[in-house]
Amino acid sequence: MPTTDAPDAEATAAWHALPAAEALAATGSRPEGLTGAEAAERLKRHGRNRLPEPPRPGPLARFLAQFRNLLIYVLLVAAAVSLALGHPLDAAVILAVVLLNAIVGFVQEGRAEQALAAIRDMLAPRAVVLRDGRRMEIEASLLVPGDVVLLEAGDRVPADLRLLAANGLRAEEAILTGESVPADKSAEPVEPDAPLGDRTCLLFSGTMIVAGQGRGVVVATGGATEIGKVSAMLADVQTLETPLLRQMHAFARLLTVVILAVSALVFGIALLQGRPADESFMAVVGLAVAAIPEGLPAVLTITLAIGVRRMAARNAIIRRLPAVETLGAVGVICSDKTGTFTRNEMVAGAVLTTAGRLAIEGEGYGPQARIAGAAGGEPEPGAAALLRRLARAGALCNDAELKQAEDGQWQVLGDPMEGALLALGARAGIAADAPRLDAIPFDSRHRWMATLHADGEGGRLVAAKGAPEALLALCASEATAEGERPLDAAAWDRGAHELAGAGFRVLAIAEARLPADGAIALDAMPPLTLLGLVGLVDPPRPEAIEAVAECARAGIAVKMITGDHPGTARAIGGQLGLRRTERAMTGHDLEALDDAALREAARGTDIFARTSPEQKLRLVTALQAEGAIVAMTGDGVNDAPALKRADVGVAMGRKGTEAAKEAADMVLADDNFASIAAAVREGRTVHDNLQKVIAWTLPTNGGQSLVVIAAIMLGLALPVSPVQILWVNLVCSVALGMTLAFEPPERDVMARPPRPAEASLLPGILVWRVVFVSVVMAALAFALDLWGASRGLGMAETRTIVVNAMVAMGVGYLFAARQSRGTGFSAEGFRGTPAVWIGIASVAVAQALLTWAPPMNRVFGTAPMGLAEAIACIGSGAALLVLVEAEKAVMRRLAGRGRQQGLA
Ligand code: ATP
Repeated sequence: MPTTDAPDAEATAAWHALPAAEALAATGSRPEGLTGAEAAERLKRHGRNRLPEPPRPGPLARFLAQFRNLLIYVLLVAAAVSLALGHPLDAAVILAVVLLNAIVGFVQEGRAEQALAAIRDMLAPRAVVLRDGRRMEIEASLLVPGDVVLLEAGDRVPADLRLLAANGLRAEEAILTGESVPADKSAEPVEPDAPLGDRTCLLFSGTMIVAGQGRGVVVATGGATEIGKVSAMLADVQTLETPLLRQMHAFARLLTVVILAVSALVFGIALLQGRPADESFMAVVGLAVAAIPEGLPAVLTITLAIGVRRMAARNAIIRRLPAVETLGAVGVICSDKTGTFTRNEMVAGAVLTTAGRLAIEGEGYGPQARIAGAAGGEPEPGAAALLRRLARAGALCNDAELKQAEDGQWQVLGDPMEGALLALGARAGIAADAPRLDAIPFDSRHRWMATLHADGEGGRLVAAKGAPEALLALCASEATAEGERPLDAAAWDRGAHELAGAGFRVLAIAEARLPADGAIALDAMPPLTLLGLVGLVDPPRPEAIEAVAECARAGIAVKMITGDHPGTARAIGGQLGLRRTERAMTGHDLEALDDAALREAARGTDIFARTSPEQKLRLVTALQAEGAIVAMTGDGVNDAPALKRADVGVAMGRKGTEAAKEAADMVLADDNFASIAAAVREGRTVHDNLQKVIAWTLPTNGGQSLVVIAAIMLGLALPVSPVQILWVNLVCSVALGMTLAFEPPERDVMARPPRPAEASLLPGILVWRVVFVSVVMAALAFALDLWGASRGLGMAETRTIVVNAMVAMGVGYLFAARQSRGTGFSAEGFRGTPAVWIGIASVAVAQALLTWAPPMNRVFGTAPMGLAEAIACIGSGAALLVLVEAEKAVMRRLAGRGRQQGLA
């Protein structure tokens, strides 16, 4: 009588030395698993099945980390020097810049981390367990000792398990034992003193199943597992770092050094001109502070984090951050078919036996359907008998389960195709009742599966199903209503082609009767009798059809790489709107090609069928050799190398194995091709926005500093005081630059070709714009300075105009920078985003206070201004917008002409 109590860990530490049944009893469990109530009670006692989290830096440490940056050090030194020279106000403004940036960085980084944490939760591992005698999928963190867990190739072991049964099971245990060769596992007990690596009847939490199937009872969870004890496997903590960001950080550091050198030069010139050292020094400090893009790194990081969040909202979960950037450059998407392009809701629609073709009209996985013979009437008795035999084998050679939900709908637990076969069994009115003795699991390399059953009167029955070519090779005979006869393989081939050409996914089903001691093995199968073919319907997802069209507009090649039959692949490809569906290459065709021919084929073909994971890998490599940035999907354990090799490896969140997810850069929560297209769209937006942030920040900083440089070089009075330039920098960099991180995708984002792989964030055109805008800003500032003087205004009044104008120009240029290709003069351009309007409103309030609040006037040396001056300030912002838009129009025209000449 099993106890319901959980094991005493000390007393039963040697799980590996106990026979399986005793180990199971010692956990207080049963072969059919715990009940829900027992599991709930044990969960309370043992806690969640989670490893202790690694310690995280506290808020203070994270805040202080914001200051660890060369750009900030320079600013802090500038503040200290200003203070030492008796300019506490300048020092305070510089410190305010530093502090505000740190606060914004801290808050946004916190939000970014929350986004990443949420993504981690979305990727929380799941486990298949038996509870109340039923198979169900639960979050792995809810596992308790005594749970019976089912595992197959590609799963990560969710807790420490004592195996109860194993079939060809192999586990990769390098994280625990350092041994990279997968270990064979079985349910047989081993010596009590066997070292960890030799405890072949145990599976350890965190290790990976690379082959076979197994069933085991949980003996330890969370911190009590072997991996929990060594706590070597810390949750992989992502940092917000990507190649482009690293490049930009390096660039910002280089820029700082250049700015310091220029500042020193300007200071020297000012001294040579005989200007007072103190005033000159402060002007140069203002110049340097204005020029240093201190806010840039934080804003770029935030842009990236927003992209990750937006992608997650579109069901694309980023596992490795560089993928956010790479996605925007993707030129080829290779996707598998089942579940990604199609719904993966299967229905058996046709059955072909030697007695002819039957049509099965039913929906979903329920038992109701109309079965019609060739003439549309009731099937012949012989055909019906063959159908029942085939349906029984299909239901026996099956790991799925059907369950009726509360709303009466039937649902599949497991593979939908197997679910469809169970439904076919119910529709044919058979009972799949022969107990299973052994199984050879499905593998995408051999493409068939077989099970061995006890079949009354001491005999044994083999049930097998698989891809027709693969299964036909194992068959010697075929079943007819009258008995067996030799196999006519050519006729079945024709039948399979016919069904596939109609868009059916085709599966062959066979059986064999063996004596009581009969056995099956992967390389020693008894000759089988073919029962027939089943045609399964799996229609394309409507949103995938749309996404394929969107990719075509965006210049992205879409290729289907499937394990399915070429006929089926072509038919579905046609329904999806893929380009070249008249031809499909099979894995077999690919094998015959050398590398050069393969590259040619990879480029020129859109449909690849009956491909193996190894061929997927070859195809990715070939496409990359052709210069393409490749996204590739995968779900099986063998897909991991191709996923790693692809520029963006994409794993399926639902039907994908843990092994595939771990190799992938991105996981699709809904397994849907449309989510890949959505992620590419967001990836392009992220790249655009990174570029916009840079395109706005550098020239505004440049304009502010150029005013100081020009004044000193030309021997003019400074049009703004050093502290005022610091103020402009403070207001602009914090309130305006940040807004560009939130830009939505531009209208044409999916109507232009992918950017070249190695496109720089700072291309020539952008360098030119930095120069152009800096010069225009400085020129307008000087013009306003002269205008103020010509109207007889005092220095405070004139400088107030220039300060306001510089901020207004920052705003004006913001509108130009928001549209990287199109014009800012559009309804879309002026509608802005909430972020833009919040930024502008805060800047307006800050400027109003600076201009009209007496204490600010006293502190910053400003003075209230009249209507004409205010209009002039706003006008200068508008003027900059007009000039930049004119420049963009000229550049567009030049680029267009260049393209035309290039084509001619
Ligand atoms: P895709 O690669 O687009 O997801 P797929 O699911 O058809 O397509 P595989 O899983 O490699 O690719 O399957 C290849 C073939 O193997 C299928 O077309 C089918 O004929 C056969 N097959 C798939 N699953 C099973 C299974 N559980 N048992 C037996 N045969 C199977």
